[in-house]
Order: sequence, then structure tokens, then C-alpha cells
Amino acid sequence: MDFISKITVVPKIPEKILGLKELSENMWWTWNYKTQALFETIDKELWESTQRNPVTFLKRVEQKKLNTAAEDSKFNELYQEVMKEFSNYMNENSNTWFSKTHRSFKDGEIAYFCMEYGLHESFPMYSGGLGILAGDHLKSASDLGIPLIAIGLLYQKGYFIQRLNSEGWQESIFLDYDFSDFPIIPAKESNGDEIYVDIDLLGKKVFAKVWQVKVGRVNLYLLDTNLMQNDPEDREITSTLYGGDIEMRIKQEILIGIGGVKAVRKLGYNPSVWHMNEGHAAFLGLERIRELVQEHGLTFQEAIEAVRAGNVFTTHTPVPAGNDVFSISLIDKYFGDFWPKLGASRQDFLNLGLEKRQNAEELFSMTILALKLSGRSNAVSRLHGEVSRKLWNHVWPGIEWLEVPINYVTNGVHIDTWLNPKLQESLKEYLGADWMSKIDDPELWEKIDNIPDHELWETHQQLKKELIEYIRKSIKAQRSRHGETVEQLEEVNQIGDEKALTIGFARRFATYKRADLIFSDEERLKKILNDPDKPVQLIFAGKAHPADKPGQELIKKIYEYSRKPEFQNKVIILENYDMDMARHLVSGVDIWLNNPRRPREASGTSGQKAGMNGAINFSVLDGWWVEGYNGKNGWAIGDNRDYEDLKLQDKIDSVSIYNQLEKQIVPMYYEKGETDVSKEWVSKMKESIKSVTSFFNTARMLKEYTQKLYMPALEQHTRFSNDDFKLAKEFAGWVKLLKENWDSIKIHVKLDQDLTGVKNAEEEIGVQAEIYLPGIGPDSILPEVVFARLKDGKIANIRRYDMKLIKEVQKDTYLYSVKFKIEDRGEYGINVRVTPNNPLMPHKNYLMGLVKYPQ
Ligand SMILES: *Cc1c(COP(=O)(O)O)cnc(C)c1O
Repeated sequence: MDFISKITVVPKIPEKILGLKELSENMWWTWNYKTQALFETIDKELWESTQRNPVTFLKRVEQKKLNTAAEDSKFNELYQEVMKEFSNYMNENSNTWFSKTHRSFKDGEIAYFCMEYGLHESFPMYSGGLGILAGDHLKSASDLGIPLIAIGLLYQKGYFIQRLNSEGWQESIFLDYDFSDFPIIPAKESNGDEIYVDIDLLGKKVFAKVWQVKVGRVNLYLLDTNLMQNDPEDREITSTLYGGDIEMRIKQEILIGIGGVKAVRKLGYNPSVWHMNEGHAAFLGLERIRELVQEHGLTFQEAIEAVRAGNVFTTHTPVPAGNDVFSISLIDKYFGDFWPKLGASRQDFLNLGLEKRQNAEELFSMTILALKLSGRSNAVSRLHGEVSRKLWNHVWPGIEWLEVPINYVTNGVHIDTWLNPKLQESLKEYLGADWMSKIDDPELWEKIDNIPDHELWETHQQLKKELIEYIRKSIKAQRSRHGETVEQLEEVNQIGDEKALTIGFARRFATYKRADLIFSDEERLKKILNDPDKPVQLIFAGKAHPADKPGQELIKKIYEYSRKPEFQNKVIILENYDMDMARHLVSGVDIWLNNPRRPREASGTSGQKAGMNGAINFSVLDGWWVEGYNGKNGWAIGDNRDYEDLKLQDKIDSVSIYNQLEKQIVPMYYEKGETDVSKEWVSKMKESIKSVTSFFNTARMLKEYTQKLYMPALEQHTRFSNDDFKLAKEFAGWVKLLKENWDSIKIHVKLDQDLTGVKNAEEEIGVQAEIYLPGIGPDSILPEVVFARLKDGKIANIRRYDMKLIKEVQKDTYLYSVKFKIEDRGEYGINVRVTPNNPLMPHKNYLMGLVKYPQ
């Protein structure tokens, strides 16, 4: 039959509980479990089947159920409580950490740019760790009242949904999402008009609509090119996350970087700090330079200095594939019309991102662009800081890796999002209702011992049962798709033993993460898993990028192990790892296994999620675990060192896994007393909850970002841009003068005594130098003695001693001198060098490449 029209009917939310709509439109509910319970109470099945998506839920819920809820007194009680909490949260503006700590703050916002945001599984705009970290960053910024706005892309198909076929191959499914299922609204100008921005791509205008997502008090804005007014190929730009070829990637990065800045302006913001979370968004610096050149009349160099002052860059991976590079021809193609607008030459422009490979190939690196355009850069764990300083040392020629100004802020996770509600309730009971506002107080954590062992154990067992239910459901879905019979599907109920020691391994299937390491010695593993008195089970999950063949082969390999008779029901691989599955795994397993090839894991955060839920970490000393492991809160795989020989590294790490499982972990788990609880195990759980929750959380992380990066960048930005960029211009003029004369600097070292040979510790050394400084003058430089301690022929650490100006010995030549004591025995190298000196520089190596040594 034909219809004259079709209509969609949505339920009418009863007046009494109308606030549900407002709750559904702010992602605050994702970290408030009472709000989740509220929706679940109305219709549990629908809540689950919509993937806990309140927007979809409110479109589909039966009218009758809403009416019943509205009349239910218990529901109303919870509803009132939630509404009050929400309204208090949204209105506590003057009472937040930020407003109390930075009372005088009146400048512009912090604009945070990231390619992906993992806020909740029902809003799948993420692929993995980077996105989840960004989501947690926004949630904590909101909690702390940090004036942050965020920019990203809205993907029509998101990342992909992973299915495993009956041979164990990953299949990627792309769904065309219905945006009316998402918690998004069109962003509007003050006059009510919807906001669109346009970017120039290859001579034509591409439009993007700006959408708004409320994340508590923080606004996230997402750009979407899937619009009628765009050509079909341009509508695809925001189709998939990390999809398409290299041209698609550059278009997406132009959109987020350049389109993102335009969106910020149209929205009426005037940020002081621009944070590039990973290099993807580094083109934002170019657009800001263009603004200053074209709209404020600055020169290219002046604009660079003005922009650098407020830019912050976070690098997230030492793995090459994680650092985008484009060919020079691609940059010419997409930026040929752009660089003339900056008043720059092509070469000056390219130099901003130029990376010379060993084979002399030249590429344009987004990480280098970001480093060069950011006054402040950081890595995401202490070890990753070290690795990054080595990796990017070449961007700062003339200094040692130890001196490279890439700081670190160790990642964390958002507690309310990742700590299971049952454990949150326990901690409330035993640590006090306000425990979360005192997480960094060691005294608070002493009280964790008040939780009775059996109570913590039972809570954990409860969560493990929930995980097993979840696993069975997931495997059933997988196998029924494979066409297994009803009888075969019945067997799925044998999977998962709640009494067995359960090990979880879930992460992206990148080869360096070595998902198959534990299978290195199959026989040995078989024995460990199949001990009838002490059974052990292994649960795997994770996606491989659709273009990552070796990663997909690794999935297939694990899948095949899982179907071998000797690993039947002992090795389990789940499909489609997402935030929901992550929540189940990190709270339901006993051990969280992580064995990346050190030092490639920048931080890792899933182990932090596990650790706070009492799932004990058993991990290689890489990423955050180097800082997190304290000897009592888990186990370390292998040693605190790097290897040249990868095979040897694999061997040592796998043997370390087996030995510890056999000798320590399994026996400890099964060492149960009369109460059926392993005391030692529970004490490790407590130590884990305490040590991980108290530090590896995003509240601490955001405070560090604010103190180490945001506030200093904000101050420098403000100073540099005041009075029509007066200081930025002066500073750029000074840099220009230095650069013009730098090559003429000459250093002639004069030693008080012969330095070769053996010296005593505590002996004083005097160094003098005559330095020729034509056109620069002594105020602009700081000569220093570098005194490097050598260990095995390598520099282990460096001390610097500023030299004092004694007198001008002849025109443009100055005598400098310093005396210092050798503090300890050892082998040392000594040198003199000149670096720029200006109180406007936030750190010593602010100006890359300006370092002069004696010829
Ligand atoms: C936390 C999380 C990650 C990141 O975990 P890693 O430790 O970096 O592997 C990836 N995916 C999901 C779904 C997560 O919840």
C-alpha cells in the first residue's frame, strides 16, 4: 500500500520527569551512575539494547513505561536526587578547583583539539586510547571548572564495528549513524543562526556544519562535512575516523586544524591556549599565523612567535605509524595557495615541518610542525618523556637529548567513568562520602584497610560474574552468526569459570603489543591453564586497524588458539572491544596483563582502569607502569631496561611471565584460608586500588596540565598579544637579529689549569672564555660551561654553570668566567657554549638550533 505520508511518533515525557530530556542531552550522565540507574529502571532491556543511549532511549521507550515511572514514588525520589545533583554540578561555577586556584583568571579559554573523543560507547567517535584519554580529559576539565572548549570531527560512520568470522579473521562493519541518536545539537550564533565554516580545498570551498556536545560544563564542538552543499567526495571527509588514504588524512587534518580555528572564532571564543592533543591538529597553528598576518598585519616570524606563546602540544606515541607525515608534493598540492597568505617563502613554510629521512627523502611531519609551533610540549609518562626527547632530539640541533624541552604529564583515567559503581559505593562507605575530593591525601587511603577482606572479595566476585555473563552473551552472538547449532550454542554456557584465576588482555592489536607472547611456549601455558586444582583462563579483546594486516593476523592466531581442544574455554577472544566491554573487563578480571615491547607504549591507560578496580596489573615496565609499580601493587614482567635484540626481549619477557604465573601469581590466588579468601591477594588488590586511584586519575592530570602548561602558556600568550602584539613583535625582532649574527659568534676557551688527567672530587675548576659577539651584544646571550657526566662513554647527565661577564676585552669581544666544584668522582666531559638569553623565553632551549660551541 502507498501512504499519503509517514509520521514518526516519539513518546511524550510526562511533565513530572521532563528533566530526563535535559539529562539525556548532557554527557554528564556518562559519569553519574545514578542517572544511568534512572534510565535503566524505566526499561532495562531497552536501555541495554540501545547501548545505554538515553537519546535513543527516549525516542523508543513505551509511553506506558514512562507514565508508570512518573507515578512511581521510588523512581521520583531518585529522579529528584539526580536532578538536584545535576543542577548543583552545573551551577557550582565559583566553587570549582579552577575558580578557587586561579581567582584572577579573566583571559580567553583553553581550546583543545583532538581527532577522536571516547566519551561513551553510545557515541562512538573514538578508536582507542587517544580518544578515551581525550574524553576523560574533557570530563575532568568539567569537574575542575577549567575553562576549556574542545574541537573535533563528527564522523558519519565513526570507527568500525569488529566482527570475527568463523576463521578468526576480523571483518570491519561501517554503520551509517543517525545523528538524531547522538547527544548533539547544531551550534548557534548569538542571533540563533546555525554555524557553518568553510575551508579552501584545492581551489574550492568545502563547508562544515558545527555541532555542539555538552560534556558537563565543557562544550565539545564537532565539524561535519556531510552536507548537501558539498561535492560527494568532500562529504566523505568526515565519514570515518582514520579511514581512507593519505589524501583523506590530509583533508581531515586541514578540516580539524584550519576549519577548527574558524569554528572557534565563529562561536565567539578567543582562546589564550591552543592545545594540540597529538599532531593531527597541528595545522591549527598555520591558520592562526594566517589570521595574524592577514588580519593584524604581523610578519610571518612575528606571527610564529605570537602563536607559539600560547600553543601546547602533547605527543602520544613513539611508534612511527602514529606520527603523521605527508609528502612534500602533497603539501604543495594542498598548501600551494596557503603559504603565500602567510607572507612566507615556500621553503620557510616547508621548514616548519621538514623531516629529513636517512635516505635523504624529505617529508612534512605533523609532529615536527606541532613541536615547532608550540612553546610547550609534553609526553604522556616519565619514560615516554625520555623516549620522546631522544626521538625528537634532531628538532633541537646542538643540544643533547637530555636537554630537549619535552616535558611529561603522566596520563590518568576519569575515576567516575571507570571505577565500578559497586566499588564507588564501597569506598564511600569506608573512606567517607567525600573521598573523591581527597584522593591525593595519603591519610584517606589508610582507611582502605577498613574494608573487610571478604567484602571486597565478594564485590569483586560479583563483578566477575557479571563479566562472565557478558562474555557468554558476546560469544553466543558471535557463534550463532557463524551458524552453530543450538546444541553447540548451549556449550557456550560452559565458558567462563568464576572460580578460575582470570587474566584479561584487551587493547589494540598492534604487533608491538605482542598479544601472542604468552603463547611462546604452548606446552608450558597449557599446564598453567589446565591445572584442575588451580585453573586459569585468559580473555582477549581488541581491534586491529583495517589496514593493519599483521595486526589482523595476530587476532586470527589468538582465535585459532581459542579453538584448540587444549585451550577450549580457557582462551577466549571477544569481538568489538569498546568502552562497555572495557568496563566489564577491567572490573571483572583478576589480572590485567600487558606486555608491549618496551619502550613503545607511551602510557597505556587500561591498566589504570583495571588497577583502580582491584584487577591487579601484571605488566612490562613500560609506559605508566614504570611509575605505577611499587613492588606491592602488582607484578612487573622483565626488567627495567631496553633491548636491541627483539628476539631476546621476547624470550626474556615470556619466561618472566611463565615463572611469575607458576611461582607467585597462581599459588597466591589459590592460597585461600578458611574464609575462602586469599588474604595476600586481597591485600594486593587494596594496594592496587589505593596506589592507582590516588595518582593515575585525570583530576591529577588536568591539574598538572593547568599548572605546568596551560597557565604558563596563557600568561605568555597574554603578554605577547597585549598592545597589538607589541612583545611578540619585539621578541621576533630580537630572534631575527640573533639569527642574522649567530654564525659569526666565536668562542675561545681559556682554562685556568690543565684539565686533562685525574682530578679529585670537590676540586674547583675555573673556566674562562673570550667570546666574539658582533651585532648581538652580551645581554642577548648566556655563555655556560656544560659539564657532562659520562657513563660507558655516553652522557648520563649534564650540569650547566652560567659564566659571568668580566669585561669587554676589545670591540665586540667579551671575557667570561666561572668557577665550579666537581661534586663527585667519575668521568666527565667539559665544554663551553653560548645560548640565547631573554627573560621572555619560558625555557632555555626555546629557540631551536641557536647553540654555539667553540670551533
Ligand atoms: C582504555 C581503553 C583503551 C586504551 O587502553 P590501552 O591501555 O592504551 O591499550 C582502548 N580502548 C578502549 C575501549 C578503552 O576503554
